[in-house]
Amino acid sequence: MNISDNLKSILNELPKNTTLIAVSKTQSEDKILNAYNTGHKIFGENKIQEMTKKWENLPKDIQWHMIGHVQTNKVKYMAEYVFLIHGVDNMKLINVINKQGGIHRRIIKCLLQVNISKESSKYGLNENQLFEIINHLKINDSIYKNIRIIGLMGMASFTDDNKLIETQFRFLKNLFLKIKKINSDFTTLSMGMSNDYLIAIKNSSNMIRIGTKIFGKRN
Ligand SMILES: *Cc1c(COP(=O)(O)O)cnc(C)c1O
Repeated sequence: MNISDNLKSILNELPKNTTLIAVSKTQSEDKILNAYNTGHKIFGENKIQEMTKKWENLPKDIQWHMIGHVQTNKVKYMAEYVFLIHGVDNMKLINVINKQGGIHRRIIKCLLQVNISKESSKYGLNENQLFEIINHLKINDSIYKNIRIIGLMGMASFTDDNKLIETQFRFLKNLFLKIKKINSDFTTLSMGMSNDYLIAIKNSSNMIRIGTKIFGKRN
């Protein structure tokens, strides 16, 4: 198991416009530095406090992606530095991120999380909720100056059924393309993990989030 070789072999498989997020949750700062020293500077975490500690200790040119569920009361800890928040799925959170962006005089980029696996996840928006939020933000764009929604994120079911995974990714891709037509901010489709990223890429994902296949099994 060699982090540098793992990174290289995944990067070799990716189309040029695809961003690889190395998911470093629960992994040590040494392992992250190991990946960083091979030239990789994009990491994903799912706990805000853990990410913030790593941000404090590690080189400042790392892009930190928050890929986990976000509690509104913790947004303040990452508002200064977070590069992209993937798991945004309600207006309360959007309002807090917008406010924190204002406090830090920046525009915080976010993705809206869509629940594409239905029963297996409690997080993420359904199609109606997604369009409600998109429309609300469009109508009130003068208020939401410190947040920018740049695309969608989804997680497929945890299953060996590749057909089912493919159906779920295709559903998200079609939603993404539909919104992209009317919203020029939409550039990013975050889908695909260690077990399903090749299916995700086939379905137009341009941001994949890989942990196990880079760092090995988590404790
Ligand atoms: C942990 C996690 C990943 C990475 O999962 P692996 O199977 O280890 O590649 C990707 N996305 C999210 C949202 C995660 O929580």
